[in-house]
Amino acid sequence: MTATMTNATLVERARQVIPGGVNSGNRVLPWPIAFVRAEGAYLFDADDRQYLDYHAAFGPIILGHNHPQVNAAVAEAMSRIDIIGAGVTDLEVELADRLNRHIPCAERVLLTNSGSEATYAALRLARAVTGRNKIIKFQGTYHGWHDAVLMNVISPPEKIGQHDPLSLGMLPDVIRHTIVLPFNDTEAVADTLHRQGEEIAAVLVEVIPHNIGCVLPRPEFLQALRDLTRQHGVMLIFDEVITGFRHALGGYQSIVGVTPDLATFAKAMANGFPIAALAGRAELMDRFAPGGGVFFAGTYNGHSIGVAAALATIAELESGEVHAHCFALAQIAADGLMQIAAELGIPLTVARFGSVFVPYFMEPAPIENYTDLFRNNTARDLWFRKTMCEHGIFMIPTALKRNHVSAAHTRADIDRTLEIARQVLRAMPA
Ligand code: PLP
Repeated sequence: MTATMTNATLVERARQVIPGGVNSGNRVLPWPIAFVRAEGAYLFDADDRQYLDYHAAFGPIILGHNHPQVNAAVAEAMSRIDIIGAGVTDLEVELADRLNRHIPCAERVLLTNSGSEATYAALRLARAVTGRNKIIKFQGTYHGWHDAVLMNVISPPEKIGQHDPLSLGMLPDVIRHTIVLPFNDTEAVADTLHRQGEEIAAVLVEVIPHNIGCVLPRPEFLQALRDLTRQHGVMLIFDEVITGFRHALGGYQSIVGVTPDLATFAKAMANGFPIAALAGRAELMDRFAPGGGVFFAGTYNGHSIGVAAALATIAELESGEVHAHCFALAQIAADGLMQIAAELGIPLTVARFGSVFVPYFMEPAPIENYTDLFRNNTARDLWFRKTMCEHGIFMIPTALKRNHVSAAHTRADIDRTLEIARQVLRAMPA
């Protein structure tokens, strides 16, 4: 590394060679930062600044960055087998076995490289087995970058109730087959299935819509989705890309006791290494090629790097100690933030589930769907995050985004976060 590699020079060079200077549209930061190292709970930038990381790369990091056991498993696998692209590897068989054991809906598993590929394959399979084209998703959920789902994620009030594609260049013919409904609204789902059930292939749901923070399903909502989809011959797909492994090894489905037909996993599954999975009932999954007529392929599917990392991550999670540690610290962080805000007279509520906590700058009130979050004070939300980052606490400065506690966070990290949050909130402009 040369002395000229500062945040400013790297970000300037990035802007010249990478569109917008980032490899994913939602990584843009309000200041020039180029990261050069990540270790445990900490990130380090090119100017030698250190940040306590709550962003966790949008969720994959559950054990902490650069985890020694995961790295060792990857290195061991790579010393033996990288990629073959024919038949199957011993590692792939071991991982599929492990996933089938932990995930309630899993009788068969397929591996992809990203959550988007997994949700794409799930929808293709649902269309194939039902012979229907339409799908239902919910306002505020994100399921990846493909045309059938990339809509109505962060919609302005005037777009609620209509299609709100997130990108130019999406195919209108694909968009029109997606029906968007309010999360937690059983009646809206029942009504839509009653009227159009015979055209609908799948209900695709982020079981906890974590892309808008932490909005919990009502206790009866997921069960109602299960009952209604079964009645109408519709596939129920749980998107557990964020919730899987982070909240429980078997995903949120193992916590609520509702088993979907298919489910997608990624992120915390391999502590940051690229891998995702689609799991489901055997009779459905066996419709994929080569046995059935549903095409499924990918040069890097089941690459030993991701598979070895997933096996090592799952081994670390199996004792339950990681989850207990992360959940307890996240609870302290959430309670502490609410306590500080109450003392300072600032309207703030913190939604938490497991290791995820999200401050919403609004009076405590039930948050059941996307439109409830219009009460969040976005200016305060962004100012708080940005100022925390300036004080070395990395909470990505994007409204409604999650904070994640990893096994590498300590009680001292949380206490320091709360001390800084107190200073920051005290200085918050009215
Ligand atoms: N599903 C959910 C719930 C997600 O949060 C994401 C990504 O954030 C995806 C799917 C897409 O996953 P990927 O970014 O790996 O394609």
